Amino acid sequence: MRLRSDSTTCKTPGCTRAPRAAGLCRPCRTREIHGSDVVMTHTAGEVQHLMRRILDHYPTARDAIGACGMSSETFYRIMRKDSRASLKTPTYQRIMAAAEVLNGLPIESEPGAITWPEVAEYATTPEGLAFIVQCRAPKVIGRAA
Ligand SMILES: [Zn+2]
Repeated sequence: MRLRSDSTTCKTPGCTRAPRAAGLCRPCRTREIHGSDVVMTHTAGEVQHLMRRILDHYPTARDAIGACGMSSETFYRIMRKDSRASLKTPTYQRIMAAAEVLNGLPIESEPGAITWPEVAEYATTPEGLAFIVQCRAPKVIGRAA
């Protein structure tokens, strides 16, 4: 446990938030004062769209929930209508990590399929733009010299 007073992060091991009082960040300080394990700084609404994306990616809900490293109870609590439901920070971080893994992967799970987002992204690259110009250019066969 670090006890340095000049630390730029909360003294709780693993916590990276900025300290506010007594070397602790606001949630950790609250926990110290109130003695409860309430480190809820995120809401279900922040992650529901990510959860849907993760769900879309995996063949079954069980796989998707497993990828997030959470219990199905937690999952269903998050996906309930109440988007203001609070989320413990470790759960939030696991969802973010699971969503991060999907970044850059095709959204459709069909193997080898080129998705529209991929096509759209390719179209913005110099290589893609050159290809488009080439496609639009008039055919040069038989052009007079
Ligand atoms: Zn903290």
